[in-house]
Amino acid sequence: SRQFTQPLTQLGSMVNLLQSGVASAERVFELLDAEEQTPDAAPAETPPADGPGRLRFEGVSFRYVADRPLIDDLSLTAEPGQTVAIVGPTGAGKSTLVNLIMRFYELDAGRITLDGVDIARMTRHDLRSRTGMVLQDTWLFGGTIRDNIAYGRPDATEEEILAAARATYVDRFVHSLPDGYDTVLDDEASNVSAGEKQLLTIARAFLAEPSVLILDEATSSVDTRTEQLVQKAMSALRADRTSFVIAHRLSTIRDADLILVMESGSIVEQGSHAELLAAGGAYAALYAAQFADAAPEPEAR
Ligand code: ATP
Repeated sequence: SRQFTQPLTQLGSMVNLLQSGVASAERVFELLDAEEQTPDAAPAETPPADGPGRLRFEGVSFRYVADRPLIDDLSLTAEPGQTVAIVGPTGAGKSTLVNLIMRFYELDAGRITLDGVDIARMTRHDLRSRTGMVLQDTWLFGGTIRDNIAYGRPDATEEEILAAARATYVDRFVHSLPDGYDTVLDDEASNVSAGEKQLLTIARAFLAEPSVLILDEATSSVDTRTEQLVQKAMSALRADRTSFVIAHRLSTIRDADLILVMESGSIVEQGSHAELLAAGGAYAALYAAQFADAAPEPEAR
């Protein structure tokens, strides 16, 4: 049926675009919308423009393949401004969860609401203009640094662009470039470092001011100092904004308001870092394992 085949046929182009990393998903979805076969609900509903950004899953079930249920009757609430971290082993369903927020796939049961409005009743355009994504790999294009930042919000003023750049530590390295914001990135953006690329993507999302932010933590190897800067820029980006973070290093999510531990499509535990450590369950085990991995090898001492 269409419900199964349509997402799969679109997947190729989506994966290419999305895995390359986007800040404002809307621009990408303008391309994808041309391919969409499930029409938007009519009449569409729209949350208040200045809605606080409360996102709820209510009894959500979803499967990619008919006889393999993945997410089963999932309910959760991300309160406005909260950071929700999602952790779990590979294949647990972390990406699926955020894909459902973006409405890449239709639900089999339940609903997801943004400020009280079922996202299935919103136009995709509206939903995606309110949803910012920062994915693992950055997605920059050949053009000036200014244009790359402004991509998430083409009508931004120079002042707004600079404010976003200052808030996300982009300003620091741009100042050391001879052409500053007029510096032209080449096609692979190979004339800036990996960490600088991440900062640029974060600045772009900051400027777009989405109500809901989805972050897939960057795992590319940058030096410790740059890594700290990236973490600080991510924190600035998340401040007062409802955020879902797919976390790969547990050290970065200690301060999350809510940590969801997923296994095989289910949330097996949820709570704060302290609560989950005290519970001594799956999270505590993951934490201990990561800590052990991070410890220096005995030979290296
Ligand atoms: P990782 O940490 O490796 O990114 P994850 O926790 O994000 O993993 P998902 O990508 O959400 O996990 O995948 C959850 C399950 O759904 C996996 O078993 C995966 O193989 C399956 N899956 C993911 N995408 C599809 C798809 N398009 N069609 C069918 N099955 C899929």
